Amino acid sequence: GTTRPQVRIVIVGHVDHGKSTLVGRLLHETGSLPDGKLEMLKAVSARRGMPFEWSFLLDALQTERDQGITIDTTQIRFRTNSRDIVLIDAPGHAEFLRNMITGASQADGAVLIIDALEGVRDQTRRHGYLLHLLGVKQVAVVVNKMDRVDFSDLRFKAISDEISAHLNGLGVTPTAVIPISARDGDGVAEHTDRIGWYKGPTVVEALDALEPARPLESLALRLPVQAIYKFDDRRIVAGRIESGSLTAGDEIVIMPAGKIAKIKTVESWPVTPVAGRQGAGRSVGITLDRELFIERGDIVAHAGTAPRETRRLRARIFWLHDKPLAKGDQLLVRCGPKESRATVVAIEKAVDPGELSSSENKAIGRNHVGEIDISLSNPIATDPYTDNPRTGRLVIEVSGRIAGGGLVLSVDAGQRAVP
Ligand code: GDP
Repeated sequence: GTTRPQVRIVIVGHVDHGKSTLVGRLLHETGSLPDGKLEMLKAVSARRGMPFEWSFLLDALQTERDQGITIDTTQIRFRTNSRDIVLIDAPGHAEFLRNMITGASQADGAVLIIDALEGVRDQTRRHGYLLHLLGVKQVAVVVNKMDRVDFSDLRFKAISDEISAHLNGLGVTPTAVIPISARDGDGVAEHTDRIGWYKGPTVVEALDALEPARPLESLALRLPVQAIYKFDDRRIVAGRIESGSLTAGDEIVIMPAGKIAKIKTVESWPVTPVAGRQGAGRSVGITLDRELFIERGDIVAHAGTAPRETRRLRARIFWLHDKPLAKGDQLLVRCGPKESRATVVAIEKAVDPGELSSSENKAIGRNHVGEIDISLSNPIATDPYTDNPRTGRLVIEVSGRIAGGGLVLSVDAGQRAVP
């Protein structure tokens, strides 16, 4: 057990700009590598007559994970002075975007990396835009490979100005812009003479300054219903607490129908009563003081802080499907376990995140982003993303496959469903 706050980050940027190298360096500089690992990889490189690359570390860890050798199978961790940093996805991982969009992984902060010689590229701008799209507000920019530009402060300033203007245009202020050489270590954990003109934080210091997310437990209760079980004649409503907390005696409301009940007992699986308040992240079963019609996908909330029920919402989405998304398209929308058929009522914005240009025809192409209004054939209870990052997301399916996803921007009050 540790009490230091955990911060979940992603490292993004154009391919070959040095993401894996930076991760390898960070693991080394923060003393997070298993004993002998670095020496072993260096020896292997020497034996094969190839220069050692810091990215080998990441590859080696990945291989071990694929073979089930390391215990933690999903995440790379290291410590700064006051934070536990969790790298929630390996750089270049193909599923990264999909995971971020569908909410499988959620970043509190990001490092955007730029090759000092290559400068800001389309993919750099696109990644900046995606961070904005995904609601990641804390972005530290790293200008890497400063050794390739003779540690020129002028080159650094030019890149810093260009990327800052881009991010500012998206409403994101970089927490720091840091000149480094990931390969040689300058600026990663230490200031070196070669970048003596730079007075700002190192990468490790910038990560240490990231704010952890608001604890999910401090948000309003959201328990999406996964299943309803019959057990010894009792009906148990089971699911995972996404946010907030609950305990026996709480007055709750089942959304979207809006029916009220009291929690009689709280059980943990397999069906043993648990005492005390249960919080976000716990899977629980609850029994109620009265028999109500409840179905999978309903949301258990507290009376007074229930989510809004809607048949219409605005969302900011990322589109993955070959066929561009257009007004009038029929979709399936999933918010947590709840699904509804849906129609695109309006395309408010269609943007190519590389160019940041809005397209004329207002259809959202593959790998483009947009803001859309959708009407739902069944009411859904959801939250704007800014109120609740867990429940304020949606996934769009076409023909049974994920075609896009994004954040709920706003929820218009729909008509109450008749219970
Ligand atoms: P990724 O695709 O963003 O993960 O990039 P990598 O970390 O694999 O790095 C791509 C190439 O850039 C590799 O050959 C690295 O050795 C090289 N590289 C990374 N950091 C630096 C640096 O600080 N200086 C120089 N000169 N090369 C670097």
